[in-house]
Amino acid sequence: AHLDRIAEVDGQVNAFLHVSAEEALTTAHDVDARRAAGEELHPLAGVPIAVKDVVVTKGLPTTAGSKILEGWIPPYDATLVERIKAAGLPILGKTNMDEFAMGSSTEHSAFGDTHNPWDLDRIPGGSGGGSAAAVAAYEAPLAIGTDTGGSIRQPGAVTGTVGVKPTYGSVSRYGLIAMASSLDQAGPVTRTVLDSALLHELIGGHDPRDSTSIPEALPSFVDAARQGATGDLTGVRVGVVTELQGEGYQPGVLARFHESLELLEKAGAELVEVSCPHFPYALDAYYLIMPAEASSNLAKFDGMRFGLRVEPTEGPLTAERVMAATRGQGFGDEVKRRIILGTYALSAGYYDAYYGSAQKVRTLIQRDFAAAFAQADVLVSPTAPTTAFKLGEKLDDPLAMYLNDVATIPANLAGVPGISVPNGLAEPADGGAPLPVGFQILAPAKADDRL
Ligand code: GLN
Repeated sequence: AHLDRIAEVDGQVNAFLHVSAEEALTTAHDVDARRAAGEELHPLAGVPIAVKDVVVTKGLPTTAGSKILEGWIPPYDATLVERIKAAGLPILGKTNMDEFAMGSSTEHSAFGDTHNPWDLDRIPGGSGGGSAAAVAAYEAPLAIGTDTGGSIRQPGAVTGTVGVKPTYGSVSRYGLIAMASSLDQAGPVTRTVLDSALLHELIGGHDPRDSTSIPEALPSFVDAARQGATGDLTGVRVGVVTELQGEGYQPGVLARFHESLELLEKAGAELVEVSCPHFPYALDAYYLIMPAEASSNLAKFDGMRFGLRVEPTEGPLTAERVMAATRGQGFGDEVKRRIILGTYALSAGYYDAYYGSAQKVRTLIQRDFAAAFAQADVLVSPTAPTTAFKLGEKLDDPLAMYLNDVATIPANLAGVPGISVPNGLAEPADGGAPLPVGFQILAPAKADDRL
């Protein structure tokens, strides 16, 4: 049914870069046979899933949205893909994304735009717009995203889906094509919180192949989600972050946010106003740390090892000239912009002023979180400042694009988990039909079950 749905709507949505119909059906039939034989299977066995194209999948094309990886077929599976396969979830295919996960609208993909199923003229968020759009358009019931600065939660918010960025280190990064290694986390994109809990529990847990993987066992997210479904929040202190609302947030987004705060209070929660004075500097710190790490991570795409190789048409054929030609043609503008920014921030004479200062700000943000979590059990904010904007609207203005992540980035800098849940609809600033809004909840590291 999901493959039929993809055939029916993906021509318009363009959530998928590759559909692996045959493999998905083989897995589905295999699971059916095992179930018929009485085998005890994972609760998600047979439930199809879409995987963001930044996650490597053995035998399936993996491009990370970039021309430089076009035609590359990975020889191995990411740890999370191994776990998905072992549990018997058919993989429907690979989803569209901003090139190397750099963006907030999926418009930086080298393979065309993904359209928001709520309004095809609008963006589905980014960088994981394909995963969110696939779930929102009922092409897939579950999807995998990755979140370096908001790429699971912001697409979740603007497509009306649930998106979880787990605690840093709780889901293995082995087999993710790295963007910024100290910030990247993979996580679920689903339609319900319980589905996210099931998927998070399946893909999470220690992996010796990721040196930052948390060694101890994680709490059961499924038990927590079931308990949470009772709706009783008596004694829960909900911290409303002063710095993550107000100026720059669309009036409809704030209206839905405040209505939800009232509902939380009615359910027994105690609302506390908390201040995180360094959050306004999070975006600035992120746009130094993230490009610095990416400029190093992307150095391996040199025309020698993976995918595209471009040889200069004239002049001597040297390794350096092949690298320059390959990277010149293979990377898009946004990726080049960030490589240049990152290389500059790390270069001798500028390192302390830029990269060093950004790391200090990162520490201050971590301290803000520690102080806030002494006053509240969870922190809440709108996930994104606006509803989905029109395709093309912010494409020529990188700063306007970056501002989409003001509320999501602090969690990545501190490694804490976050979830975006649907928070009703609001009228877009430029008119038209109401569009989805997200409600973000943040918890201390390793307290993903509390989300
Ligand atoms: N939109 C942010 C960026 O462009 C976050 C991306 C992400 O989380 N992968 O960097």
